[in-house]
Amino acid sequence: MVAAKYIVGNWKLHGNERENAARFAALKAGCRPSDALAVCVPFPYLAQAQQALQGSTIGWGAQNVSEHAKGAFTGEVSATMLADFGCSCAIVGHSERRSLYGEDDAAVARKAQAVATVGMTPIVCVGETLTERERGETAQVVTRQLAAVLAHASPETKHKLVVAYEPVWAIGSGQAALEEDVREVHALLRKQLNQAGVTGTRLLYGGSVKAGNAAALLNITDVDGALVGGASLNVEEFLAIAQAAQA
Ligand code: PEP
Repeated sequence: MVAAKYIVGNWKLHGNERENAARFAALKAGCRPSDALAVCVPFPYLAQAQQALQGSTIGWGAQNVSEHAKGAFTGEVSATMLADFGCSCAIVGHSERRSLYGEDDAAVARKAQAVATVGMTPIVCVGETLTERERGETAQVVTRQLAAVLAHASPETKHKLVVAYEPVWAIGSGQAALEEDVREVHALLRKQLNQAGVTGTRLLYGGSVKAGNAAALLNITDVDGALVGGASLNVEEFLAIAQAAQA
């Protein structure tokens, strides 16, 4: 059987208890057994996600994690703490973390390792900025970002990674990448993983995925799912993306 495409929502800095309750209920009601869904919610709502979603087939996770296991790191949240709330995954290296909070390739690699160490799935984001794209540096940037993670990862971690190609310029812009560009970058990432002896990695595409473009994007070779920001806040649309994944 072909594995279901993995559709992950990134709620970013949105939601409150009331809105979340409605979203979790609608997700549970509309999710089909064949869907592979997860939502990455703000830290304070992990307990709410756990309570609402446990027993369902929908996973939940975080949008960031500390690279440290414990210690004097005020404001940080460790992977073990996320595991305590039943998280199945955590996003690491989202472009907003890289650009707004100065996370570099090495920090992203340490975070991916920290997540995998506690048995969760690190969803590692890679992607070029518009300037890098215009300079023709896309391949160089994404391979450098993935190489940093692979170089730091234990042999077990390498096989637990999910990699999300998210062109920075496509995130939140309403303008997804062109299908041929997605195909090319995913093929490149697949080759890089294969050369590192890592097979079967799920490669997600992220950047303005909507119900209307999901089928075309998810049909591209080597696109095994989607990381969805804005559209994941609208449950109907998020579920439509999941449906498109199986169309
Ligand atoms: C994201 O934040 O990971 C993302 C892909 O956002 P959007 O879908 O809104 O472009």
